[in-house]
Amino acid sequence: MNSHLWQRICGEVRDILPSQLAASLFSQVSLAETEGEDVRLLFPDSFSLENFERKCLPAVLDVAEKISGKRPAISLDIQNKSAPSQHTTTIEPDVVFPVFANQFDGKYKFENFVVGTSNQFAHAACMAVSKQPGQCYNPLFIFGGAGLGKTHLLRAIGHSLSAANPSIKILFLTSETFTNELIHAIRTDRMREFRDKYRTHCDVLLLDDVHFLAGKERTQEEFFYTFNYLHEARKQIVITSDRYPKDIQGLENRLQTRFEWGLVADVQPPEIETRIAILKNKAENDNIHLSNELAQFIAGQVTSNIRELEGSLHRLSAYASLTGCPITEQLARQVFRDITPKSRHELTPEAILKVVALQYGVRVTDLKTGKRTKEHTVPRQIAMYLLRRHLVMSYPEIGKYMGGKDHTTVLHAVTKVARLLRDDSEIVRSVTSIESLFR
Ligand code: ADP
Ligand code: MG
Repeated sequence: MNSHLWQRICGEVRDILPSQLAASLFSQVSLAETEGEDVRLLFPDSFSLENFERKCLPAVLDVAEKISGKRPAISLDIQNKSAPSQHTTTIEPDVVFPVFANQFDGKYKFENFVVGTSNQFAHAACMAVSKQPGQCYNPLFIFGGAGLGKTHLLRAIGHSLSAANPSIKILFLTSETFTNELIHAIRTDRMREFRDKYRTHCDVLLLDDVHFLAGKERTQEEFFYTFNYLHEARKQIVITSDRYPKDIQGLENRLQTRFEWGLVADVQPPEIETRIAILKNKAENDNIHLSNELAQFIAGQVTSNIRELEGSLHRLSAYASLTGCPITEQLARQVFRDITPKSRHELTPEAILKVVALQYGVRVTDLKTGKRTKEHTVPRQIAMYLLRRHLVMSYPEIGKYMGGKDHTTVLHAVTKVARLLRDDSEIVRSVTSIESLFR
């Protein structure tokens, strides 16, 4: 595959993945020159190869197929350090120096963050920081439950700062990425570059999900020095977490204390008015017509998590457009019908298989064995897709669970169902109805 086409694929995949994840995944890949459409990707070590395979390969395959009309054969290899391939082109040399441009797309701005009593304090603190970075609250620590807008606020700060000053060096990443990069730097003996990146080449550090550092002593130690360095240099640090600093078990005391030095602000589950406003906002952005009554109805069904709220709206609109029905309260009731607490199942591999089997009138054992009739293949592929999507099991794990299938079979099934969900209303209906039975 030529490098131009590969770059196009990378560009589109980056749009699908969270930006910091994409940056860290792609920073390790290089494309080896091959004949024809085949792709051979090289990685410095097995860690980065597996990471890429797990988190990025399905998206790469999908996008490649969309662009070139057919699925290329992709092989992943570890680059032989002593004899590097002559034809290797590095995709992005940003392990050392991050790419600052375009990391904040227009989707997550202050302008489209709906403010209500549940989040107004955090919002105001973030606005203040984005006007005077390093000067008012340092660090700013935002905490709260999943799907309540923490990452949105972090991106909004980044967006606003880089709009005001395009040359400002903002590092926006999750603490998982920080950990991965640290491990990589230790393995490849590049600690100096790692420290340079986080100290010298950083004006603002936006660190998402810091609770991930719990129990990771070596990473915490490195982060402690990074934090001190930046703080002393009066560089703005904004951190998010699912808990208050002192409640993060396994996080060193000295970090907990430092996280409280500046300002700690929480985000709470939104009250009904805010949920309605968020829905109306999203609907308008996505050109979905949503009446006040319907917004009220949906906001009454999904009460705690804004991500789920958005998901419900998207599901409803996908359902409506694929089935050709207008979005009415009746349709919404139908889509939400099964989501009553008592009928929901705990999300486990066994439950997924059971529900899929029930939906398709087959036996669980038939999903695991190799019967190749269409009657069994489709539910089997859907089960694999759901295991991947909702339980984030790895391809080999799913293969093993499904009666000893090869991981490439699983990969094929997962990407196939993901594709069908874009244009096959039958599959959409059945997956929607299966998913609605889970919490
Ligand atoms: P968290 O990081 O707290 O888990 P996110 O920031 O990822 O949550 O938010 C989940 C989704 O909900 C995102 O798509 C985000 O844009 C949206 N969202 C959260 N809070 C708001 C809000 N107040 N106004 C508009 N959208 C919001
Ligand atoms: Mg988040």
